[in-house]
Amino acid sequence: MTDKGRPEVLFPLFGALAKLDGIGPKTAVTLGAVHIEKPRDMLFTLPHAGIDRQLRPSIRNVQAPATVTVEVEVGKHTPNAVKGRPYRVTVEDAETSFQLVFFHARGDWLKKQLPTGQRRIISGKIELFDGIAQMVHPDHIASVTDAANIPAFEPVYPLHAGVTQKLMFKATRSAIEMAPDLAEWIDPNALAKEGWPSWNEAIAQAHSPTNIDAVMFTDPARLRLAYDELFAHQLTLALARAQDRKAKGRVSEGNGALRSKVLKNLPYKPTGAQDRAANEIADDMAGPARMNRLLQGDVGSGKTLVALMALLTAVEAGGQGVMMAPTEILARQHLEGLRPLAQDAGVVLELLTGRDKGAERVAKLDALATGKIQILVGTHAVFQKDVVFHDLRLAVVDEQHRFGVAQRMELGAKGQAADVLVMTATPIPRSLELAQYGDMDVSVLDEKPPGRTPVTTALVATSKIDQVVARLQAAVAEGRQCYWVCPLVEESELSDMTAAEDRFKRLRAVFGEGVVGLVHGQLPPAEKDAAMKAFAAGETQVLVATTVIEVGVNVPNASIMVIERAESFGLAQLHQLRGRVGRGSAQSTCLMLYQNPLSETGRRRLEILRQSEDGFRIAEEDLAMRGAGDVIGTAQSGLPRFMIADLERQAGLMALAQSDARTLLTQDPDLTSPRGIAARVLLWLMEQDRAIRLISVG
Ligand code: ADP
Ligand code: MG
Repeated sequence: MTDKGRPEVLFPLFGALAKLDGIGPKTAVTLGAVHIEKPRDMLFTLPHAGIDRQLRPSIRNVQAPATVTVEVEVGKHTPNAVKGRPYRVTVEDAETSFQLVFFHARGDWLKKQLPTGQRRIISGKIELFDGIAQMVHPDHIASVTDAANIPAFEPVYPLHAGVTQKLMFKATRSAIEMAPDLAEWIDPNALAKEGWPSWNEAIAQAHSPTNIDAVMFTDPARLRLAYDELFAHQLTLALARAQDRKAKGRVSEGNGALRSKVLKNLPYKPTGAQDRAANEIADDMAGPARMNRLLQGDVGSGKTLVALMALLTAVEAGGQGVMMAPTEILARQHLEGLRPLAQDAGVVLELLTGRDKGAERVAKLDALATGKIQILVGTHAVFQKDVVFHDLRLAVVDEQHRFGVAQRMELGAKGQAADVLVMTATPIPRSLELAQYGDMDVSVLDEKPPGRTPVTTALVATSKIDQVVARLQAAVAEGRQCYWVCPLVEESELSDMTAAEDRFKRLRAVFGEGVVGLVHGQLPPAEKDAAMKAFAAGETQVLVATTVIEVGVNVPNASIMVIERAESFGLAQLHQLRGRVGRGSAQSTCLMLYQNPLSETGRRRLEILRQSEDGFRIAEEDLAMRGAGDVIGTAQSGLPRFMIADLERQAGLMALAQSDARTLLTQDPDLTSPRGIAARVLLWLMEQDRAIRLISVG
């Protein structure tokens, strides 16, 4: 994090943590280890619960165990007779008497705190011990005149080793005092409409909840602080987007000649959604700004055709296009699917992967550099340093979730100002989409090509695997084809491989030589290809595979999908796998084998898949059941970690933040209006480094 240029008002919040009450150098180190490094971090560490400490007349009608606060008269002290036994103090409230219990007590100290015959306010957890009410180590002991020191509702903070609630309470109070008055960055109309407090009020309220509702995510103060976080994030993405679009793009306008030739040769008509997306992309490519667009569409929605239209537009405009796929299998499949179409239109389409070596590779690179190859498909090999294009106008990235955000960023660098189209087949909930791709424009394929037959999904216990194999034999005898996906044993490709090889041998023993194929990530590329080819051609009828077939693989005649240990996969992954069938006219079946005992959540997750084929619904459910990071895979997701905002439950806020951020930048691109300046402070407050770099150079 850079410090240069930080607004002066924020200095106190970015100073030393030890400046806060109750925090010495040692505690500062402890907290630093959990990323609470400065007063600002303390401010954004909100209580996650609260304890009701309203004064009650008596403990008598309390359902133990429960936390209560009562006024008592202190009675007899019973020091521990034997070491290790507790020290007891009998007290009496308005209706009943009970005992305070102390272990390792110091009698003289207790006598000072609780002098016999005097009145005290005590607060703590009442428990029953052998039917007798007692309170072990009260949380608070106060004289009647100091009763106000016990908060009626006490915030409970997430704790870390070596840090107590009392310390957190004290330190957060002192951080709130330190918080400067900040000018409002939220649109005043929106603020009024939502009924949110100002930032300063929100911070104070969030740390001083007065009831249990106030620690819920629906509390206005919390919503506001969550919104601030999302708004800062969206402002960063909007700034990046504005910057992208300011960077000169290429005007790639085609005459449609190649596209109409290809469409005429297709055995089907594009869906309305494909037409719409293709037009959005063509318009964007024809504009002067550089395109940075996401094409989202569920498995089987026909993204490839839309990509081809865009690639042909680049060619019509006199340039080249490239499409990158995440795996060799997919790149090859694109080659096989697209080359005939391209050829009919007289367009030269080639494949480049890591396997191209020597003279052949040199020749391809040469043809690229001179513009002879017009469309290149391949793996990440297409972006190696020595791959030079004659006039690259469009880069398409297929199945983006395999690449990660960082690589997407690097993409643009290749073609000087090439348009970028990213395609993702993982339907992700809107809030995550906005968090991850908020800087991009989005086209959606929300319609599937006609003639698809729904896939029947069944859950089957692994113990019935013999019946599954018997049914499969009957199906294969009828000429049907089947994928058999082996479990993710651990996060190790090696064990996946062993599982797949094992299953392969067993099935081969049942079905006989030549019927069963095998494909997994550890196979030599040529064998992988051969296995895929044989299956696609119908030479083999059962393909045993690991999740290498998860994305994009298209063999329309395959109508049965068996997934072993389905419970070990993510929902999105299962949805992707299932998407490999139901592509032809035959009735398709997906059998999810699970290992008993299946946990309650495990069963619920699989049930969702059984009931729905709607990728977006599945993704929403997945998000609700797991965390945001898990859905995309935190490590490679580039998804920001929010301290307060909750993407699962505050999805609406993210959409609001995006439109608000984009509007602000339209009205005030340099952030120089009073609201713009306030927003700059927010970016600093939220440590949005990327945005800060963008505004400092702008
Ligand atoms: P995905 O969006 O998963 O990448 P694909 O582009 O692989 O989907 O398309 C899946 C299948 O649907 C392919 O076999 C493709 O030829 C076919 N397809 C694409 N568009 C249409 C359409 N408009 N009508 C009928 N079939 C189509
Ligand atoms: Mg695809």
